[in-house]
Amino acid sequence: MKILVPVKRVIDYNVKVRVKQDQTGVELNNVKMAMNPFDEIAVEQALRLKEAGKAEEIVLVSIGPTQAQETIRTGLAMGADRGIYIDAPHETEPLSVAKLLAGVAKKENPGLIICGKQAIDDDSNQTGQMMSAILGWSQATFASSVSLANGSATIVREIDGGLETIKVKMPAVITVDLRLNEPRYASLPNIMKAKKKPIDTLTVEELGVDIKPRLSVIKVEEPATREAGVKVSSVTELIEKLKEEVKVI
Ligand code: AMP
Repeated sequence: MKILVPVKRVIDYNVKVRVKQDQTGVELNNVKMAMNPFDEIAVEQALRLKEAGKAEEIVLVSIGPTQAQETIRTGLAMGADRGIYIDAPHETEPLSVAKLLAGVAKKENPGLIICGKQAIDDDSNQTGQMMSAILGWSQATFASSVSLANGSATIVREIDGGLETIKVKMPAVITVDLRLNEPRYASLPNIMKAKKKPIDTLTVEELGVDIKPRLSVIKVEEPATREAGVKVSSVTELIEKLKEEVKVI
């Protein structure tokens, strides 16, 4: 079985994001970029399934500007086998991404697509769900555990206040949550090996997808700066302030 893992290049999660002066988006120039953290977890899961003998090949796909190939290279250094790069603008919307990935899935016929539950830049949490609908495949979102047997996947999902276990038929789309695993670091020999692994290129035209934006961003703003707190000397003073000044009780 083949596993497809879509990996997105996003602003590194350690970077403090700055809004562009014209408020049309966030600053991407000279900003450190990295693989979306949820996608690292997805790659790790695919590697563990391969190591457990449940899969033979792991194919990474990234849609974005030329540098998205570096993100594929990062996943190849973790241990994935090959990559597919699709040249498209950074802002390609989840519906278009889902259609492009579904197009790749039709060519590659994987048994599983494992992707992040959300990209930390757009926070959409849509691509996996849309992809499974387009393909007509089973869907298991927010996985915190994945096990495969007899053509089915058993997934433990993180839901409000608890865990839910579901069983889906494969082929399936699984989106992964934070607690599924801890992604490995690439070792130096694997980084060297990754340089020789193939990355094929597919075009949006070849996949026949219209990626014209359907949404327009009206304005992006920095979050409001928090006002400094005040120290009170007693519970009586606190209650008085809440009553008289803040007027919440
Ligand atoms: P989103 O729906 O944008 O929050 O993204 C959910 C998941 O879809 C991500 O964690 C990735 O696995 C995948 N994905 C989204 N955008 C891209 C992209 N441009 N290239 C590859 N994978 C993507």
